[in-house]
Amino acid sequence: MGAFTQPELLATLETLDPPDWSSVSALAHRIIDDAVGHLGRVRERPVWQPLPEEIEALYQAPVPDRPTPLEDVYRQVKDTVLAYPMGNIHPRFWSWYMGSGNFTGALGDFLAAIQGSNLGGGRHAAALVDQQVVGWLRDMIGFPEAASGTLVSGGSVANLVGLTVARNAMAGIDLREEGVAALTEPMRFYASDQVHSCHRKAVETLGLGNKALRRIPTDSRYRIDLEALRAAIAEDRARGFRPACVIGTAGTVNSGAVDDLTALAGIAAEENLWFHVDGCIGALLSIAPENAWRVKGIERADSVALDPHKWLHAPFEVGCALVRDRAKHRETFAVSPEFLQGMPRGIASGQWLHEFGFQTSRGFAALKVWMALMEHGIAKFGRLIDQNVAQAAFLADLVRSNPPLELIVEPEINIVCFRYAPQGLNEERLKETNLEIMLRLQETGVAALSDTTIRGKHCLRAAICNHRTRPDDLNLLISEVLRIGREIAQS
Ligand SMILES: *Cc1c(COP(=O)(O)O)cnc(C)c1O
Repeated sequence: MGAFTQPELLATLETLDPPDWSSVSALAHRIIDDAVGHLGRVRERPVWQPLPEEIEALYQAPVPDRPTPLEDVYRQVKDTVLAYPMGNIHPRFWSWYMGSGNFTGALGDFLAAIQGSNLGGGRHAAALVDQQVVGWLRDMIGFPEAASGTLVSGGSVANLVGLTVARNAMAGIDLREEGVAALTEPMRFYASDQVHSCHRKAVETLGLGNKALRRIPTDSRYRIDLEALRAAIAEDRARGFRPACVIGTAGTVNSGAVDDLTALAGIAAEENLWFHVDGCIGALLSIAPENAWRVKGIERADSVALDPHKWLHAPFEVGCALVRDRAKHRETFAVSPEFLQGMPRGIASGQWLHEFGFQTSRGFAALKVWMALMEHGIAKFGRLIDQNVAQAAFLADLVRSNPPLELIVEPEINIVCFRYAPQGLNEERLKETNLEIMLRLQETGVAALSDTTIRGKHCLRAAICNHRTRPDDLNLLISEVLRIGREIAQS
């Protein structure tokens, strides 16, 4: 096939741009109006609803060959996607642990996509915003200005970044060159038995194996037992392991327990270990006037993972890894062929941000965080965190004053574990009953809770990371749990 001529190329020229921008403008305005209406009326809709079979079937269809007018594509999204959400932006969603989004953040995501910049690096404004947001998060937890950081997809990757730097910095060999096979003493990481499951994935991904993560028992408040930790480190040293890293959790996923970070920083310093904090839930307590004291010591960590898509309510996804020692952070990830090492001028004269993580291309997640922080200011986010902690205490009071509800854990921060526990039911029946309550709450669209088991007791779990929740929502939760509980008892 010979070369094309310019007229030939022109004759077949195609683009993804619309033939007429004014036609998409009208639709785009309607989408915005619909979106505003959708958010404005979120409280009136069910938290979640089961998907009809026809809708499930729609999403089995093969990739389309032929075009569909954008109007119709949007209609399908509106009727069959937006109508069936997971539910986490609803004021009565308290399952697992996630933020509830915000409109400004959504606009930020839209604008970030419109600009389309790649945060792999370079000299452009998005890179400045990205690094400014990292700097703001660094300041929020009291990390030194020289610390580095990177925005990632979420807490799991943020923890993986921190633990990777920890592994490489503590390996005692050139781990990047030699690999884990060259380790003569197997490395050990320590965390409480309440540690999030992503840490297991991380040590496995890092080639260290699940056994490299020693789970240390917790005290009566589900915080890592410091004496047991010391003993485990000593035992491992005696057995020829290489203790490398202590992972503190600021807000456990089960019950919101916050490890004694100051004490852990002390132990890590004495034992010469890396100190990583999983702050996905609680790191940002540091900006909440009433509750900042709970995470004192986080500023002494070597690395911290935190999650702006939780208590900053950024729309998914955005997590952040911060590392105190910028050089160690960069040495872990930088692969810099000469030609990428910075042009004196032009687009490549900025920093190569991909030197601080796994990704090369990265989206402009910073903008949604930046815009919401600019709009509201940090103090408001701090108050919203305090508000959720106060709401959890209020919910715990409601539980205490409404038998046969039983409070399973006194809430430390914003997670309340409780169950419907009429007399005479064994653990198995209690679990059945509470699971049924949880499912009926979801299926009726009233509220979304999840469940967990704490020291053998199965319970419902309400994690209030939600800027839309009002006290009445919690009253309704309690009255519905009691009503459904009685309904089950009578059936
Ligand atoms: C949510 C969470 C994670 C994982 O974060 P993702 O953003 O879901 O990847 C890790 N640790 C804790 C304590 C969490 O709550």
